[in-house]
Formats: sequence, C-alpha cells, structure tokens
Amino acid sequence: MTTTPLPLLVLGKGRDLHTERGVECPGDLPPASDPALVERARAAKEALGDRVFILGHHYQRDEIIEFADTTGDSFKLAREAAARPEAEYIVFCGVHFMAESADILTGPDQTVILPDLAAGCSMADMAAISQVEDAWQDLQDAGVADATLPVTYMNSSAAIKAFTGRLGGTICTSSNAKTALTWAFEQRGDGQILGTGKVLFLPDQHLGRNTYVRELGGSLEECVVFDPHKPMGGLSVEELRAARMILWRGHCSVHGRFSVDAVETARREIPDVNVIVHPECQYEVVELADYVGSTEKIIKTIAAAPDGSSWVVGTELNLVQRLAKQFPGKRIAFLEKNVCYCSTMNRIDLPHLVWALESLVEGRVVNPIRVDPEVAGYARAALDRMLALPGETHKD
Ligand code: SF4
Repeated sequence: MTTTPLPLLVLGKGRDLHTERGVECPGDLPPASDPALVERARAAKEALGDRVFILGHHYQRDEIIEFADTTGDSFKLAREAAARPEAEYIVFCGVHFMAESADILTGPDQTVILPDLAAGCSMADMAAISQVEDAWQDLQDAGVADATLPVTYMNSSAAIKAFTGRLGGTICTSSNAKTALTWAFEQRGDGQILGTGKVLFLPDQHLGRNTYVRELGGSLEECVVFDPHKPMGGLSVEELRAARMILWRGHCSVHGRFSVDAVETARREIPDVNVIVHPECQYEVVELADYVGSTEKIIKTIAAAPDGSSWVVGTELNLVQRLAKQFPGKRIAFLEKNVCYCSTMNRIDLPHLVWALESLVEGRVVNPIRVDPEVAGYARAALDRMLALPGETHKD
C-alpha cells in the first residue's frame, strides 16, 4: 500500500525558515533528566561573572527564576537590561518580543540571548507586520487614518513597534495603558479623550477595551474589533468612522481563557475571596473581579494583603504557584482549572539555560536576538515616546 504524503510543511527541514525558528538547537543540549544541571548552571554563571546578566520574567519556571539576577515584567526587564551596560551578554529568560525590546534598549556592544528561539508569544504572533500595514491602508481608504493614532502593547514584534513609531504612536504596558491612551486621544481629532480622535490598539483587544471602557469612561459601542483575516477587518466604512477604539483581533492564549464561570464558582465556594486578574482577561471577567492589574501589581497587592485572606488569581500559573509558596499564610488559588501554563514561556528550561551559558563560557554565542537597525530605530522612537508620557515612570 502506498501512503499519500501529508500536505504539510515538515518542520525543521529548511523549508519554512520563519516558522521553524527554534525547532532545532544546533548543539548538544543537555538532557532534562541530567541531575547535574543545577550545578552546571551555577558553575557556568560563576565562570562568566559580570559578563552575563540573567533576566527572568515572572512567568518563568522556578528552576529558571533561581538563576535570574533580576525578575520582573517585560518592560521592567528591558529597562534592567539597559541599566547594565557592563554586561556583555544579557540572557533573557522570557519570550521573543521581550528579547527584541531588550536588544533595542541595550547598547551596540551588548548581545541579548534567548535560550530557546521557540519561546514566542501567541498574542504577538497574532499581528504580522504585513497585516498591520494592510489594515492601515484600509483605514486610509475609509478616510479615518488621519484621525487615528496607533498605540501598541509591549507584547508585539519589533516590526509592529517600528510601525507605531513611524506613525507617531506610542507603546504601552499593562501598567500605563490609561496614560498612553489619554495621550494618544489628545493628539488626534479635537484633542478630547472622548472626542473625535481614534486609536488603533494592537495587538490585545482585551487590554484596549478594558482600559478604554473601564478607565477612560468610553463605551463598548465605541469599540470595534478589526479582524485581519477579513476584508476591511470585517467592518464597514460607517463602523470605522463611528468607532473611537479600533481593537486588533488579538488576545493572550492564557489570560483570554479565564471565564466568568470560574469567577462565579470561586465566589460561591470560597468565603470572602478576593478575585484579582490581569487586564489581558476578557472584559466580562475583569468586570467581575475585585482587583485588576499587571503582574507587578498582582504581586504587590497579594504581598500587602493580611495573613488569612483568600485570593483567586487570574494570571500565568507559574507566578500563581510561586505566590502561593511565598505566602503560606494566605490562601492563594489559581482562578481556572482549565487553563495551563504559558507554553511558550515554559520553553525556557534548565537544559536550554545551561546550553546558552556553557556555550558562552566556551566562547560561542547561541541564539542572539538582533533587531534590524532601521526597525530598531523606529521601535525605539515609540518606546521613547512612552517614556516621555506625562508623569510616566512605569508605575507598577
Ligand atoms: S502569557 Fe500570553 S501574552 Fe504572555 S507570553 Fe504567554 S501568550 Fe504571550
């Protein structure tokens, strides 16, 4: 019997280099079961000394956090990297867009390394630069581009940040989205926050909607969702003209899955529970929560809560587990039983970290992240605009 070949690209075979990023590691990756891994990571880090600085995002595994010189959210880590000009190598234990931002913000003599190139981000991947350029053309054709300013979440590729910078827009984080949107509306239309200006918000529709409606006092009716897979985003010219917030159809595949049902179950089953969620969660979930905030804000809120208090937390599971361990006097639970770890954050494990560090000790740089200089220039302009926002000091 003959078999019919599947009409699929075979990964790792040099046929689709863009999507094959990180499928294979060129080198001897130590097996995950190697009992000496912790010792090897420690020895390599010690041998490198101040030449290496390891950044660990809050959503990383404990085995990685143990070796991080500092931990934080994506923006805090990029700034930490920029503040270490003496470190020749920045090993970024996070995902691809974060390493790109670190490369943009660090000096030309520094190299940013992502231990596993397959550590991408599903949200960032939901906005390809060609789709965004096409969308902007649609806005021009609809006659609304002049009234619109792009505001882009940190969780996006360097190319999308550069698009934003080129058009005079700004980057935002989950901590400063309200400030960024306020500024953006003041730059367009009649300069009023709820006036005639528009924002194209990329790529997380939930953060955009939650901020506009809950923090700026806009209405849900003024938000439209631009679907890059449909002509004109699936919207009519009239809808685009009437909208104030044009939300890209992107979401986080972890935070987007927390449900209203899970919040209601927690309230039913845990007396006096506090529900705290990240603003990447759906609007309906955020509306039901007691507290909403970035990962840094979630950590600070729970740290400051009294012993004996009960919390259900809607953010990445590695962080929630770490909080539960760190604060045994508080009852801390994960909001949704059907939500898993962020699979791409979890790509960074001890074998990959050891491989990256030991390679440096041997004088080999593996998985460097280098953003094209022109892209980096425009992306930096958008990042700098964020840093210049009124009163902006990256509040957590
Ligand atoms: S948690 Fe969500 S936004 Fe963060 S890296 Fe994972 S998929 Fe991307």
